[in-house]
Amino acid sequence: MWTNWSGGQRCRPVATARPLDEAGVAGVIRRAAERGQTVRPVGAGHGFSDLAVTDGVHLDCSAFAGITGVSAVGGPEAGSGKAVVRVRGGTTVGELQEGLADRGLALPVPLDLAAPTLGGALAVGAHGSAASRGSLAEQVLALRVVDGRGRVRDVPHADLDAARTALGALGVILDAELAVVPATPVTVTRAQRPVDEVLDPTFWESHDLAEAALFPSSPTALARWAGVAQSVEEEAERGVGVTSAGATGRTALGGAVVVERALPRLAPSLNRVVSRLARTVSATGAGHRVLSSPPAVRYEQSEWAVPREVLVGSLRALLAQLADGLETGLPVRMRVGPAERGWLHPAYGRETGWVAVRVPRGTDPGPVLARTASVMRAHGGRPHWGTRHDFDAVDVAAAYPRFADFARVRDDYDPDRVFTNPALARLLGD
Ligand SMILES: Cc1cc2nc3c(=O)[nH]c(=O)nc-3n(C[C@H](O)[C@H](O)[C@H](O)COP(=O)(O)OP(=O)(O)OC[C@H]3O[C@@H](n4cnc5c(N)ncnc54)[C@H](O)[C@@H]3O)c2cc1C
Repeated sequence: MWTNWSGGQRCRPVATARPLDEAGVAGVIRRAAERGQTVRPVGAGHGFSDLAVTDGVHLDCSAFAGITGVSAVGGPEAGSGKAVVRVRGGTTVGELQEGLADRGLALPVPLDLAAPTLGGALAVGAHGSAASRGSLAEQVLALRVVDGRGRVRDVPHADLDAARTALGALGVILDAELAVVPATPVTVTRAQRPVDEVLDPTFWESHDLAEAALFPSSPTALARWAGVAQSVEEEAERGVGVTSAGATGRTALGGAVVVERALPRLAPSLNRVVSRLARTVSATGAGHRVLSSPPAVRYEQSEWAVPREVLVGSLRALLAQLADGLETGLPVRMRVGPAERGWLHPAYGRETGWVAVRVPRGTDPGPVLARTASVMRAHGGRPHWGTRHDFDAVDVAAAYPRFADFARVRDDYDPDRVFTNPALARLLGD
């Protein structure tokens, strides 16, 4: 039995293959196709949605790990310190960011999560929080995949915007070339701020990285922002990053969640206490370290991408809805991102606001997820593919202007639908 991180998704694949090389991946796909079986690539199982769920073959990419090449950029940016790295698809984001740090490099937008694999993060358009710098998918310069016929293909430029966020529907990502930047120390600060302050665009426009955690019933938000360090204070670097809940808040948050599960009506007042407990903390160091955000508890998540101009309206509407008896012990997370090129990336073609709700394990997530979906749909929202949502193929076709183009590329890479599963059939209409 395979289970994802949250425990909300389970399946019994007919087999799990862990090939060690490209020929091995191609062989698994060809054999499955001959047997009329389907194949789903699987990474670290940190998706909340059912995209990796299958009763066919699970293709575990974890043997494909590591950075296999680094080259300085040429042309007008020669000497800028920027570089191109070649990374295998099974590399975890944590391994990637540490490997880059060892080489004096970094992702343009650090990700505060270590466990997902590069293949899994790209498949769903995983993102951080920077108003003007794109997600991992936006840094993709080249991709090498094995398609549904077991052919190893270097994705041509014409197909790259289809392949950079493809839900694992076009092929197994063997490796990717990513644009990276010189590593510079980052100072991150977390502090309480009035909700009105973090919902003002100045907040996210005046910081390289900015995000906020909001409880429906609390006038205080936990704001977190970061930028290039002004001075390096060695002792400030710490094992656990300055999470939006902060070291002290994390324990309180975990404790509050336990109490609220038993006594849900206490949630509003306990959350107000928790949000006032968080101290102002700053730390300086490598971005992915000082921003790392290990979760205090396990939870289900639904995240939506809305046009930036309706971010505040959608959030206020959602907070009001959740305050009506649906408040949980975990805050709503607000982040931002620029327009993306990936045809199926939730931020495709528009400056974006990201809104994530989380429901602690042990609490039925249904009511919160349904209420969130209805509010976000009303604001033109597109769900994060790696989280829980209720989109189907009709919604996807309506929300994504390049959906038909994506479908054409899919017919070329997987004409026999070897990579399909119930989720892809529902979302892409198969
Ligand atoms: C605690 C927690 C915090 C999170 N924080 C964030 C966050 O800050 N930002 C964010 O955007 N997301 C976040 N996520 C979501 C997570 O990044 C995505 O769900 C990501 O897809 C997980 O990667 P994975 O390797 O675990 O993939 P899996 O869950 O194993 O698979 C996800 C999808 O990727 C496909 N896939 C996996 N490997 C490959 C491959 N080599 N080639 C092609 N397709 C492949 C699978 O078929 C599936 O469709 C978080 C998740 C958790 C559990």
